[in-house]
Amino acid sequence: MRDFNWICPHCEHAVTITGERFSANRHTLYLDNADGRRTLATSYAVCPNPNCRKFTLTADLFETEPSSSPHGGEKYLKKLNAWSLVPSAAMKSFPDYVPEAIREDYREACLIKDLSPKASATLSRRCLQGILRDFWKVKPGRLVDEITQIKDKVDSITWDAIEAVRKLGNIGAHMEKDINFIVDVDPNEATLLIGLVETLLKEWYVARADRLARMGAVISAAASKKTP
Ligand SMILES: [Zn+2]
Repeated sequence: MRDFNWICPHCEHAVTITGERFSANRHTLYLDNADGRRTLATSYAVCPNPNCRKFTLTADLFETEPSSSPHGGEKYLKKLNAWSLVPSAAMKSFPDYVPEAIREDYREACLIKDLSPKASATLSRRCLQGILRDFWKVKPGRLVDEITQIKDKVDSITWDAIEAVRKLGNIGAHMEKDINFIVDVDPNEATLLIGLVETLLKEWYVARADRLARMGAVISAAASKKTP
């Protein structure tokens, strides 16, 4: 296996996974059945960050056929499904300073995304509203109006990202509706909404906490230099 770089979903560190931290296995369905030949590939990866060392487990289901190679094996035709088993969905973990209700909506939006994109999108919109009210203290109203309230407060790149998602097909068309109104969306729209929530949590909550920690370090360093 070739080494690869990735972001650990547990600790969010960019790490390199080498051969000794990766293990994969395959299981082919040879039994005659209505759908045809399938191969399930499972893989474990262990995070090399000494403060994390957690494993992730993923499973991918492929449509396969016998390979024509003299070594036998399977020829992979198409990936049919991909599951993140540990952690239980492709989701990030955010620190405790992000309010629990917001983290809970975010987690559920991730968990339900493949089964029900519209339920996921509804949770993401509620999450977005929770963030606007908690972080920016916007005046409660329709989501579309709450978003408008922060236009002059956020940097232009963040605003462009919000606008881009807001203009997406069905999500955009129903922004003015109540947050609990269930909008029919496709899986891509649900994924984009989750991506927006993740970006905003990082850009706002995580960045603010990092900044406070850095400033705190400067202040205490300066204080310790003071001559007695
Ligand atoms: Zn990690």
